[in-house]
Amino acid sequence: MTLSAGLICLYRPDTLKIVVGILLALTMFSLPIEVRWHIDHRAVPMNMFVWLMVYLLCAYVVFGTRVGGILNAVSLGIMLLALVSDPPTMPMLVSSWLTGLIVLSVLGVLGYSIIHFIEINLLLHAQDNVRLRAARLDALTGVYGRGAIEEELKRSMHTAREANTAVSIVVTDIDHFKSVNDLHGHMAGDDVLRAVAKCLRRNVRRIGGVVGRWGGEEFVVLLPGISRTDALVVAEQLRRELSAVPLGGLPITASFGVAAYRGTGDSPEKMFSRADLAMYEAKRAGRNAVR
Ligand code: GH3
Ligand code: MG
Ligand code: MG
Repeated sequence: MTLSAGLICLYRPDTLKIVVGILLALTMFSLPIEVRWHIDHRAVPMNMFVWLMVYLLCAYVVFGTRVGGILNAVSLGIMLLALVSDPPTMPMLVSSWLTGLIVLSVLGVLGYSIIHFIEINLLLHAQDNVRLRAARLDALTGVYGRGAIEEELKRSMHTAREANTAVSIVVTDIDHFKSVNDLHGHMAGDDVLRAVAKCLRRNVRRIGGVVGRWGGEEFVVLLPGISRTDALVVAEQLRRELSAVPLGGLPITASFGVAAYRGTGDSPEKMFSRADLAMYEAKRAGRNAVR
């Protein structure tokens, strides 16, 4: 039964909160009765204190330090009240119970501090990651922004130089995109840009390609480890894919320019410039072409 409850909790973390919440509530309500029972039997149950420590930690881990802290303070308060409202007759018992309560409170505060510290650090880390990711991505299409794709190219060129491997880029510009905006509106144009980015990404992901938006209706596909000959094949495949089905609900085509890393002395700027020139050649050749 515990195993199946555990599996359900793993499958749905929300269930974990409900299950632990019910257990904690039951413990909280049974505390005064249990404390009373033990006092009546002149006992200080050590295993109860150990379980209460687990209970305190569970409350912090599952509900966070804020709600967990309130739950734990209430539970310790209930225990103290149960003890004060009808204290045991033997002074030895009173002091043992109080010592137990003090130890629990100290451990509770310690647990709070540790989990709060972890919580804050994890949260800050997660927020930093979200901010960093957002800064690197193009807001409209979700592919890399210009700065990020430049960085990726620099890194790939460095690897290519060190390992003596290839790296290519494909620059693509949507044909007559201005008329898409003019005829169908800016929103429809945005839909096309999103769909083009998605299509490019889907087609190059399995070969390790990275897509970035260079600006406007121009995209860059970075192909690490791929020579110019192979990049021309990839670009031709992308050209066919883009023109095969309507993107964002509209039939579009694009022109492609390919450039490959030429070894020491080459730079990202030179590569972009060669790919751009090749792309303009494709435009001059009538568009919907690869050069
Ligand atoms: P060509 O075939 O020569 O590339 O012609 P074109 O019309 O695509 O080229 P041009 O550079 O004249 O037009 C690009 C247009 O892209 C102009 C601009 O309004 C539009 N554009 C740039 N950024 C965005 C954007 O974020 N959203 C939308 N909807 N349009 C954009
Ligand atoms: Mg353009
Ligand atoms: Mg264009």
